[in-house]
Formats: sequence, structure tokens, C-alpha cells
Amino acid sequence: MKASESPVPEVVFEEGAFLKVAALLEAQGSRRPFVVTTAGRRKEFSSLETASSVRLEIFDGAVEHVPVEVTDRAEALLRRAEADSIVSLGGGSATGLGKALALRTSLPLIAVPTTYSGSEVTSIYGLTDRDGKKTGRDARVLPRLVIYDPLLTLGLPPGVSAASGMNALAHSVEALYASNASAESSAWAERSIRDLAAALPVLMDDPTDLTARSQAMRGSQLAGMALNATVMGLHHRICHVLGGSFGMPHAKTHAVILPYVVSFNSPHAEDAMSRIAGALGVSDAPSGIRALVRSLPLPRSLAELGFSKENIPGAAREIAEANYPNPAPVSAEDVERILTKAWKGE
Ligand code: NAD
Repeated sequence: MKASESPVPEVVFEEGAFLKVAALLEAQGSRRPFVVTTAGRRKEFSSLETASSVRLEIFDGAVEHVPVEVTDRAEALLRRAEADSIVSLGGGSATGLGKALALRTSLPLIAVPTTYSGSEVTSIYGLTDRDGKKTGRDARVLPRLVIYDPLLTLGLPPGVSAASGMNALAHSVEALYASNASAESSAWAERSIRDLAAALPVLMDDPTDLTARSQAMRGSQLAGMALNATVMGLHHRICHVLGGSFGMPHAKTHAVILPYVVSFNSPHAEDAMSRIAGALGVSDAPSGIRALVRSLPLPRSLAELGFSKENIPGAAREIAEANYPNPAPVSAEDVERILTKAWKGE
């Protein structure tokens, strides 16, 4: 198989879709897929391993932020297995490793997302080495096929659902005020905020509500599409630096930081703020985002996440150093103020 040149993945969105994964892989022309996943998700393949004509090679060592040494190890196994495709099953960590391998090998990637990171529909990849996290865009990492099966997410704990859902919502927020936002990307973003804000509170009470699971999954798909179509701003920059250089957990960091960046950008992005407020069903976007975050079982501050106060000036410098588009002009002092507030959870 050759990696697809198409910029849009084929999508199967269906309860129970994963049961058909062997047939879907065969239809893609893959007989020796290399599966990347996290340890807890390996069990999803147990019945498939015995029942299928497709020969699976499974690597279950995916971790957050795609460390280069994990990627090296997985690549060596993939090459030894003479794999003809890569299948990622799991959250953004598994998808991220799948993307890094697709970038290195040009093999096609088939993604089976089980959280709300939205990464499965983007051509954005990340790789972390001792100098921090580097991100880029490359058509080779965009999955050829995405299989959405809400049944796979029934066991996703409320805290993970909430954090991951806020990660998706952050994609949509930044897509709405991106300098290259289009009518289409903004429509995806608004719809995704509506879906996520409706589904997440339901899932906190009943994680097995299948209608809410499907709605959250659809919301995260749209958020990923909006992210893929636009440029990222200050919020994503902060989260990448805190994750890549300071080891902060990705989705929870998004949840802590988002209200502060929305407040900071609010006076410079009126149209986006009124769309966000409309999608949340509130009159003011910053307080609406804050209220949503506070209603979910999420950490409130960077201090709670274990971020050391002494790291704030260094992180602020690294964040402000890079050249990225943002509706409000940003200085290192601005970032330091944002991080200090987020550290305290004010
Ligand atoms: P994750 O993939 O690490 O998953 C979080 C936790 O949930 C893990 O412990 C995982 O094992 C568990 N889990 C996953 N699915 C489950 C399920 N169905 N049931 C029970 N437990 C389950 O975290 P994440 O927040 O999904 O992804 C974070 C990563 O994704 C980061 O590395 C981030 O940089 C990346 N990301 C990339 C993009 C992109 O477009 N490239 C976009 C968003 C996030």
C-alpha cells in the first residue's frame, strides 16, 4: 500500500464499527497491520487476533507527547514485522505514535480514536526529544481511514472524558479566532462546541450513555477538522510548551489554561467570542467557558497539576519566543501573568 494523497480521511462512524475492523483493513489492502496502542486498550484486539485472517503485530507502549525513544522502538518492530499499514487504537497518544511512524515510513495510517483529542482528522504531528516538543504538518500523517466506534468509549472515566473533551473544545475556540478561519471551519467549530458542551455534563452522570458518547465523539471529530483547517494560537502554544518541555499532562493542561486564554483574547476576537457564547448558550464566552470547566471533574490550577511556580518565567519566555498567530498581541510578561493566574487557579 502507498500512503494516500487525499487530504480527507475516509470515515466510518457507527456503533460496533470496530467489530468489522478486519474487513475494513482488508478492504484497504492491508494484511499485516502494525497496531499501536496504550497498554489498557490492547484487550480490544484479543478476539480479533484469533478470528481474523489479518496478521496483527501489536505495540502497546504508546505514551503522551510521542517521545522519540518510544518511536524508535516501535519503528524497529514495525520494520521487522514487514507491516503494510499502521493502525492506531486509543487516545491522542496512540494516534500520535501512529502518525510519527507514518511520517517515518510513509505507510498508510488507519486511526481508531477512543478519546476526544481530535488528532485522528489532522495532518498535525508532534515528536518530543530532549529539546522539547516539535510539531509540524505533513499529509503523510493524516489517516487514510478513521473508524469511530462510540462503544469503545463506554469505559472512558469521567475525568478523562472531561479533560479530553476540553482539549477538543480548545481546538474549536482557537479555530474560531484563527486568522485563516473560513465559513466552513467556523461552522464545524461552533457545532463541535455545541455538541461537547451538551454531551460532557451528561457523561459525568452516566459514562455509558451511548447517545452522549456519540455526540461527544462527533463534536471531537468536528473540532479536529476545525483545528486542521486553521492556524493555532496562544492557547495551543502554551499547552505544547508546558507538555513538551515541562511534562504536563496534555488534556488536563488544556482544561486548566483555556479559560485564561479566552479571557485574554476576548477583547481582540469579538466575533469568535459571540459565536462561542452562542454555542454554549450563554451571553459571555469567557465566563461560559469557565463555568463549563468548573462544572466538570477537572483540576483547577497548574499548581494542582504539579507545575512548579519557579518554572513560570522560563516557560513564559519559551512560549513568547515563538512566532505564532494570535488575535491579541502577546509579550512574555502577558504569558507570565496568564501562567501565574492559572497556577493559582484564580
Ligand atoms: P491519551 O491518549 O494519553 O489517553 C488518556 C488516557 O485514557 C490514557 O491512560 C489511555 O490509556 C486512556 N484511554 C484511552 N481510551 C480509553 C478508553 N476508551 N477507555 C478507557 N481508557 C482509555 O490522551 P489524549 O488526551 O487522548 O491525547 C493526548 C495526546 O494527543 C498528546 O500527546 C497530544 O499532544 C496529542 N494530540 C495531538 C493532536 C494533533 O492533532 N496532532 C490533537 C490533540 C491531541
